[in-house]
Amino acid sequence: MADPLEYASREARRFVADLPRRAVGTRVAAGDLRRELAAPLADDGASADAVIASLARAAEPGIVASAGPRYFGFVTGGTLPAALAADWLAAAWDQNAGMYAQSPAAAVVEETVAEWVLDLLGLPRQASVGLVTGATMANFTGLAAGRHAVLRAVGWDVAEDGLQGAPAVHIVAGAEAHATVLAALRMLGFGRRQLRIVDADGEGRMRVDHLRAVLAACDGPTLVCAQAGNVNSGALDPIGAIADLAAARGAWVHVDGAFGLWAAASPRLRAAVAGIERAHSWATDGHKWLNVPYDSGIVVVADPGAHAAAVGGTAAYFVAGGGERDGMTWSPEFSRRARAFPLWAALRSLGRRGVADLVDRCCAHARRFAEILGQSPRVEILNEVVLNQVLFRFVPADGGDGDAFTRAVVRRIQDEGTCWLGGTTWRDRAAVRLSVSNWATTSEDVERSAAAILACAR
Ligand SMILES: *Cc1c(COP(=O)(O)O)cnc(C)c1O
Repeated sequence: MADPLEYASREARRFVADLPRRAVGTRVAAGDLRRELAAPLADDGASADAVIASLARAAEPGIVASAGPRYFGFVTGGTLPAALAADWLAAAWDQNAGMYAQSPAAAVVEETVAEWVLDLLGLPRQASVGLVTGATMANFTGLAAGRHAVLRAVGWDVAEDGLQGAPAVHIVAGAEAHATVLAALRMLGFGRRQLRIVDADGEGRMRVDHLRAVLAACDGPTLVCAQAGNVNSGALDPIGAIADLAAARGAWVHVDGAFGLWAAASPRLRAAVAGIERAHSWATDGHKWLNVPYDSGIVVVADPGAHAAAVGGTAAYFVAGGGERDGMTWSPEFSRRARAFPLWAALRSLGRRGVADLVDRCCAHARRFAEILGQSPRVEILNEVVLNQVLFRFVPADGGDGDAFTRAVVRRIQDEGTCWLGGTTWRDRAAVRLSVSNWATTSEDVERSAAAILACAR
């Protein structure tokens, strides 16, 4: 048998080549996977090649083609070829990206990616950038920096004095804030009942008139959690207006732009996020719309001092990089995989134009989906398709229960296998969310998937 790397590479290449043809969902039962994979740990080990061969064989039925061109579930994205190859190198090199001293190459690549991201997204050039596991930790980091900054402004040092006894911080969030923003706030010591929720409009955007009223009642340190890219509708909060209102009150604005922030990289969409550079921290993902493998989140903070003070790592044996970048200054994590390599490869392979094209192409595919599906009397489109998300529901021919019908059709689509999309709830009604986030999706994939979706609704 081949050596394990040879074997894994062959399996991986076969899988990637087969992705466009594979049934997208999987019907495997967890019990079937457990039969092979969940054996008690043996006393004796096995050879690496045998282990890899058995893993590939046993996991195969439970692998979802979420990296493929007709997976429209959640907001997922696939993997650009250059990013995947760089990810393999990152694993083989096994660099610790915590400090410059541990991997000069990882540090320089990380610093380069940071500059590219600020440039592409039009964010302040002096901002600091941290590479984290995903937007959850990016939200956590941005909000931690905000907590530090707004308390510092009233003479309280969270790093030294903690949160107990600190002045109250007002937390303002849109009604459609992502669950991970609430989780980040929870980890930062802010509970759900302490949030001041700003109403959303019909598309899920923060209502500026309500924000004005909410902010008027916030006397003192204030964090505002805005969103670029609603996971259901794709809607973008009016960030410019939010930033202006917040600035008038000295509030910190954090933008959760897990996927939607990439709209800023498209000249066609840039106006939709006008003023985004006036926020104070931003969270986004590499592993969604940028099509980098998982474990790739990016946080940007306009105030590097607050960023480092809030999450930066230090240790007794700390080997300062002599002015070079130590990644752990900008991430809550200490030891860390070198996430910058696949990000660098993705951005280098796309170029500035390629990033804009990827974003624009996915949005055009989403509009085409809405156009085809919207022509059917069995479909009701629920959102303005401003980005890469289409939100709709199915309408039963007999005028029966639309929620039950919508859920049933979604299951049918998932079982049928041409494409995969997920159910959601929108304004208290069952709905379907379709996200086009994969670099490889073609117009033909869209036509074929739309036809399969409509066939399942008939
Ligand atoms: C996906 C998503 C998150 C969470 O990001 P992870 O990368 O899964 O941690 C947060 N906010 C929004 C808007 C998202 O789409």
